[in-house]
Amino acid sequence: MREVLDVAKKDGRWTECPSCSEIIITQKLKENLWVCHHCEYHFRLSARQRIDIVCDQGSFNEISQSEADSEEKGQIAEEAICGGEATIDGCKFILGVMDFSHKGGTMGVMVGQHVIHLMNTASLEGIPLVFFCASGGVRIQEGIWGLFQMLRTTHARNQTRHVPMITVFTDPTTGGVSASFSALADVLFAEPGSRIGFAGPRVIEATLQCTLPSDFQNAEKLLSNGLLDRIVHRHELRDTLSLLLRWF
Ligand SMILES: [Zn+2]
Repeated sequence: MREVLDVAKKDGRWTECPSCSEIIITQKLKENLWVCHHCEYHFRLSARQRIDIVCDQGSFNEISQSEADSEEKGQIAEEAICGGEATIDGCKFILGVMDFSHKGGTMGVMVGQHVIHLMNTASLEGIPLVFFCASGGVRIQEGIWGLFQMLRTTHARNQTRHVPMITVFTDPTTGGVSASFSALADVLFAEPGSRIGFAGPRVIEATLQCTLPSDFQNAEKLLSNGLLDRIVHRHELRDTLSLLLRWF
């Protein structure tokens, strides 16, 4: 039986839940918006899957990373963020979606540049901005230039404070992304069970020589501590954003 399951998992027909280890038919999981039927575990999504779930069908128009890139189309490197203009129930907004599967969703120079570009576009067009964050932090391989992105994006957010901004933290959002532009939104949402924090628990435990509680950096704990405004189940995400965007 185990071999049959392994074959089915390998070709993608069945998927194992990392939280409760139940084996789920992938198509059923997809229909349930990649939420486990048994334990409500929210699977990590790629930027494309997120756009499909959240936006009106076919409404997403990608904004290229920069003007220089659009001149050299075809040579654009895949990045850890995908941004564009979209609608939810007809309400227009600017959307930025980070993709953890691309280099851990880290924020390097290009990602920082794109975040700023999306903020400026939202400001110019006078429409709200929504970020879905999933990141391991700053792209440390880019050294000081990576770290500068925290400063640049924070400054850009301060320059565009009049733009209503919503951040949805997804699992995981850590490091320099949680500690810069993403936390400066007007409304902060999170998906259930997301890890949101700065340094990871292993680093903190090793530094402080202590054992951390099991709910450390957990979205539910952060809500009770007042960092988040609401935890939104993936099934209610679209309706919640639609309601909020209409107010703006
Ligand atoms: Zn599960």
